[in-house]
Amino acid sequence: MKELLSGAWERHEKFINPKFVQRLRTLGYARLFPTARGVELEDAEGRRYLDLIAGFGSVNLGFNHPELVAEIARTLAASPPSFLHFAPNLEAGRLAEALAARLGPSLSMAFFANSGAEAVEGALKLAFAATRRARVLYCAGGYHGLTLGALSAMGAERLRAPFPSLPGFEAVAFGGAPDQRGGIADKLRTKRYAAFLVEPIQIEGGVKMPKVGWLSEIAALCRATGTALILDEIQTGIGRTGDLFAYQSMGFVPDILVYAKALSGGLIPIGGYSTSPEWWKRAYPRGEDFDLHSTTFGGNTLACAVARRTLELCDEALLARVRTVGDRLGERLRTLAANSPLIAEVRGTGLIWGIALAPPTSGALTALTLGIPNAIAARLLAHWVAVRLLERGFITETTTHDETVLRVEPALIIEEEQLARFVDALDETLLENERFTSFVASAGARLIGNAAARALRTTPP
Ligand code: PLP
Repeated sequence: MKELLSGAWERHEKFINPKFVQRLRTLGYARLFPTARGVELEDAEGRRYLDLIAGFGSVNLGFNHPELVAEIARTLAASPPSFLHFAPNLEAGRLAEALAARLGPSLSMAFFANSGAEAVEGALKLAFAATRRARVLYCAGGYHGLTLGALSAMGAERLRAPFPSLPGFEAVAFGGAPDQRGGIADKLRTKRYAAFLVEPIQIEGGVKMPKVGWLSEIAALCRATGTALILDEIQTGIGRTGDLFAYQSMGFVPDILVYAKALSGGLIPIGGYSTSPEWWKRAYPRGEDFDLHSTTFGGNTLACAVARRTLELCDEALLARVRTVGDRLGERLRTLAANSPLIAEVRGTGLIWGIALAPPTSGALTALTLGIPNAIAARLLAHWVAVRLLERGFITETTTHDETVLRVEPALIIEEEQLARFVDALDETLLENERFTSFVASAGARLIGNAAARALRTTPP
C-alpha cells in the first residue's frame, strides 16, 4: 500500500493528467482513496466517506460486492478462455439470454462492448445500417460519451466543439416543451434520420427529467417514420430509477437500448445494446455482415459472468427498495429545499437526484455585490458545498454539463439512515452560507476564487 500511495499525486500529474490534478487541488477535493467497500471509500489517512455518486451510476451494488467478487473467483477457477474470436464466447450467450428474459422479445438480441461510448457507437452503426440513412437527432444537454461518433451527439459545446463532428448530427430540445414538439415531428417526418438518440433522464445535463409522455410520443413518431429510437440508459440503467431500466415505467419500448457502467457491477468494463431480431436483421442481413461491428474484448468471459450475476442481484426486491428509499430521500431533499434559499430546485426519481444550487441573493456580501457573475457564483457555491461535504465525510459531485447541480446517486444498497445523515450534513453545510460569502469575499479566498474560476474554465484556456 505504501508503494501505491507514495508519489501518487506526482505520478498522476506527470504521467496522466496534470490539469485534473490541478483542478482537484484548486477546488479542495484532493484526496487519495486506496480502498472501497460497499457504500464507503477510505482515504489514505484511513478516514471513511459515505459515497453518494457510485462511480456515476457504475457501482450500483456498492464497491466490491462480495457476491460479484466471488463470481470472478468462481469463473476464473474453471480456467475459461478470457475471450475467443473463432468460437462463441460462452458467457456472452448466457448474459444475452438473461437480458432477453428481463427485456422481452422486442429487445432480445444483444451486442457487447467495453464501455458506454463504444456501445453508443455500435447502436448508431446499427441504425445507419438498418435505415440506410445518415442523419441523427440528439438532444441539447445530452451526454453519450467521448468517442467521435458519440461525441457528435454531445449536448454541450465545451466537450464537442474542440473536435470534428460527424456530418448530419442535429440537436433538438430535450424533454417536451410544447413549442418544440412540432419541430421534432417535422424533422422526423422527412424520413431522413437514421436515429433519435436520447437519455430517459439527462443526468450529466443536470438531472433533467422529460415531461411525462414526451418519450412515448417520440417513440411513436420514430415508429411511424422508420427512425430507430436509441435510448441511452448507460447511467439510468440497472436499477437506478427503481426499474431495471427507466423506460420500463415510461410506456414505450426503444428500438435500441444502450447500457454499460453498472451492468457488470462496476468491476469489469462492459457496454452493449439490445435490439429486436428485426432491427438486427435489417442492419446485417448478409453472411459477410457478421463482423461489420465487433471489438476484441466485447463479450469477454469475466465481464459477462459478472454482469449475469449483477442482473440476478438486481431483483424485484432491490428495485422495490430503490423506489421506497428513493421516495424518502426525495421528500427529505424537497423539505430541505423549501427551507433553504440556496437550493433553487430538487429533481429526480429513485436513487438519482439533482440539487440545483443558487448563490445567496441577500445579506451583506452577495456574489453580485462582489462583482462575480451569478452563473460563476453558483458553480463556486456548488463546488464549495461539495468540498464542505467531503470534509464532513460525504462524497458528492456536480454534474458534467451543469456545475451548479450536485448529484446524489448512491449505490442502491444504501441505508435510509445513511441518506438521512447525508441530508442533515447538507443542511448544516448550507447553513454555513455566511462562510461561503466570506470565502469568496476575503482577499485570500478571492485568489482561490479566481484560481477556481480558471479551473472551472470560465476563461479561455
Ligand atoms: N451515456 C451516458 C448517459 C453516460 O452517462 C455516459 C458516461 O457517463 C456515457 C454514455 C459514456 O460512457 P463511457 O464513459 O463508459 O464511455
